[in-house]
Amino acid sequence: MQKSRAIVLHRYAYSDSSWIVKALTEECGIVSFIVKGGKRKESPFKGALDPLALSEVVFRQNPNTELQFVKEATLIDWHRNMREDLLTTAKAQVMAEIVLRYAPAGVPLEGEFALLESSFRDAEASPGNKEFFARWLLDTCELWGYHLDISTCSHCGHTIEGSAADFHPETGAFVCKSCLGVETPRAKKETLDGFYALRTGNGDIAHPEFTENALLAYLRNHIGFLREIHSLKFLSETRKLFSGEN
Ligand SMILES: [Zn+2]
Repeated sequence: MQKSRAIVLHRYAYSDSSWIVKALTEECGIVSFIVKGGKRKESPFKGALDPLALSEVVFRQNPNTELQFVKEATLIDWHRNMREDLLTTAKAQVMAEIVLRYAPAGVPLEGEFALLESSFRDAEASPGNKEFFARWLLDTCELWGYHLDISTCSHCGHTIEGSAADFHPETGAFVCKSCLGVETPRAKKETLDGFYALRTGNGDIAHPEFTENALLAYLRNHIGFLREIHSLKFLSETRKLFSGEN
């Protein structure tokens, strides 16, 4: 028997009464579970296998089958505060989908687990947390080997004072004011200020969606989003809904 903490990334109906649940486990990477009778009201797993929940699961890992049977699932954190904020939930869903589709299969993913767990914990502790998604994207780039050096100009190699003057999502290059010269930057001021907020860690990120999109574009350039991230559509709809508030 395996016992591991797990974050539920995705769940879909398998039959009238069963679910298939894909979870990021702390010790065994991404595991697909079949949960027979999971849709019934009296299911012993209750909220423990809901998408975005953090739980402890006990299962027998059968290497001969894709789908594992869950023996026990105990809810640790349902992330109630995080779910109460629609925009935060939409971002958390994109994070879960990126891990599900792009993390390497069949290997332990301790780094990915630790990162997702702490990001969800931050969002849970301060709902409406503006930084957590951009911070997670930046840390995920680092984890997957696409390091971004926010504080160094890629042209002259000098440390950039304050916000960079430009950013190129194709290469991940930041450019300082003197190297940009009289040219018009391609990146928006909000994007660059957001990167500076991530660099200083002061949480002062007024319009995170600009920096989030720049990081998504950078990541897309490197890992190639061959398959569409479906939840991005929902996020962009949700952002429109909330754009009046920003
Ligand atoms: Zn420079």
